[in-house]
Amino acid sequence: MGRYHGAVCRLCRREGMKLYLKGEKCYTDKCPVAKDTTPPGMHPPSRRKPSDFAVRLREKQRLRRFYGTYEGQFKRYFQVASRAKGVTGTRLLQLLECRLDNVVYRLGLGSSRKEARQIVAHGHITVDGRRLTVPSAIVRPGATIAVAEGSRNLPHFKALAGNPGRGVPAWLEYRPDALSGRVLTLPAREDIDAPVHEQLVVEYYSR
Ligand code: SF4
Repeated sequence: MGRYHGAVCRLCRREGMKLYLKGEKCYTDKCPVAKDTTPPGMHPPSRRKPSDFAVRLREKQRLRRFYGTYEGQFKRYFQVASRAKGVTGTRLLQLLECRLDNVVYRLGLGSSRKEARQIVAHGHITVDGRRLTVPSAIVRPGATIAVAEGSRNLPHFKALAGNPGRGVPAWLEYRPDALSGRVLTLPAREDIDAPVHEQLVVEYYSR
């Protein structure tokens, strides 16, 4: 399935919660979901209790949309997580959280994951000193993520220099003056604010 090009706030309304897809607007009272969580579409929502399958499908879609990944890519993350040691749901979240575009977003170098993805794809980010343009690349503990030398004078990054930003999670370290950060460790479940029950996602793929 290809990338979604429609109105992103519609996705939040479909999931009935904020997915933080639009950057600054998501933190203001202009967010449509803050006012109304009615699902999109001309027909009123069904009053029937959703089936077990529908509940699990919704949870999978919610998580996939939160991180903005393709369907096939998301399924591959699940396959990798299910083969890894540990709790599959937590491993899945850790993989998604360690995507380069997500780390750039978490460091505050992009206002949304979508913007962070564009920043990476346009070659503005280095990992351990080397330019990396693959937003889905997984960064490991110990990796240093920084704004590329030649991009520091762009207005977007100049405005961020020295600004502590939104605050980074405990598994990351950010140096605003150097526009760089480091992955300290793998994120623990409590460090990941994805609004999902990951066990339902595991059950969706274990049908
Ligand atoms: Fe739109 Fe952001 Fe609100 Fe979602 S959280 S509805 S993307 S403004």
